Amino acid sequence: QAENHPESITRYQPGRDESHLRELQLIADLHNAIHNHDLSMNYQPKLDIRTGQVTQVEALVRWIHPELGFISPEEFIFLAEQSGQIHGLTAHILQRVAADARQWTEAGLDAGVAINLSAMDLTWPDLIDHIETNFDDWHHDRLRITLEVTESALMQDPEEALATLRKLRELGVTLSVDDFGTGYSSLSQMRKLPVQELKIDKSFVLRLDAEPQDQLIVKSTIDMAHGLGLKVVAEGIENLEAWRLLQAWGCDLGQGFHLSRPVAPADLADTLRALDAR
Ligand code: C2E
Ligand code: CA
Ligand code: CA
Ligand code: CA
Repeated sequence: QAENHPESITRYQPGRDESHLRELQLIADLHNAIHNHDLSMNYQPKLDIRTGQVTQVEALVRWIHPELGFISPEEFIFLAEQSGQIHGLTAHILQRVAADARQWTEAGLDAGVAINLSAMDLTWPDLIDHIETNFDDWHHDRLRITLEVTESALMQDPEEALATLRKLRELGVTLSVDDFGTGYSSLSQMRKLPVQELKIDKSFVLRLDAEPQDQLIVKSTIDMAHGLGLKVVAEGIENLEAWRLLQAWGCDLGQGFHLSRPVAPADLADTLRALDAR
């Protein structure tokens, strides 16, 4: 558009130009980061709220940029989607997670893994192939895999999403609806999808101890989800009060800084041991 509006390149726009330059730099550098293996994964435990046992860990991608430092995945996943790099990034993440999970399984840890997918991955024809090749028979036998897909991703193209979800179910993975409650979908729409788990968005959980409205929303979501045969996960548990409430309401799984922050794979064994000893 710059060619049509020459003023836009001569007139300095404070803030806007800097953030645009940052985006361009990140888009260019992300390509290298994927190929130089500058990305790593952290893992955050998801605990069975009834027993306190860790059943799975959620894989969260990390990028420490050599000049800019920590870049939030919220920022660079979006840029990867905008710049056509998301599938390359997801393929890389699947490979990293498979390698990490193989190591912790060989070290004797018994934790399934949950992997986040981008909305665009649901219409990616190679997704199934990548999951099959990275999580081969060896993994299938010993590793429980969950894929987390946001509520809004499922609603963008429900037909296409449904076809992908069905194929993923055939591979035996568990499907989880992430960020539930932030979009406009209802539990009745979830019922039509082959999903097994629902993750209540952390915005409803973070202040659960102090917000009666959040308590009402979370409690009734748990009840209705259970009525539909879905397991419920609460993320963003930051204090003991929230954990206790969720326990009283029969929430199945819990995740949050009160239990554990996301950790590097090298620290996973110690983290799980500390949680077990709690
Ligand atoms: P998400 O999937 O909803 O992940 C949960 C986010 O909440 C993570 O942020 C996690 O570190 C954070 N979190 C966990 N417990 C707490 C808590 O008690 N309090 C608070 N305040 N936050 C908590 P993170 O790692 O920055 O990831 C942000 C988002 O980026 C993720 O949201 C997900 O949408 C996306 N993302 C992260 N890793 C990946 C990935 O490997 N692939 C894709 N496609 N997206 C990813
Ligand atoms: Ca997630
Ligand atoms: Ca979430
Ligand atoms: Ca989120």
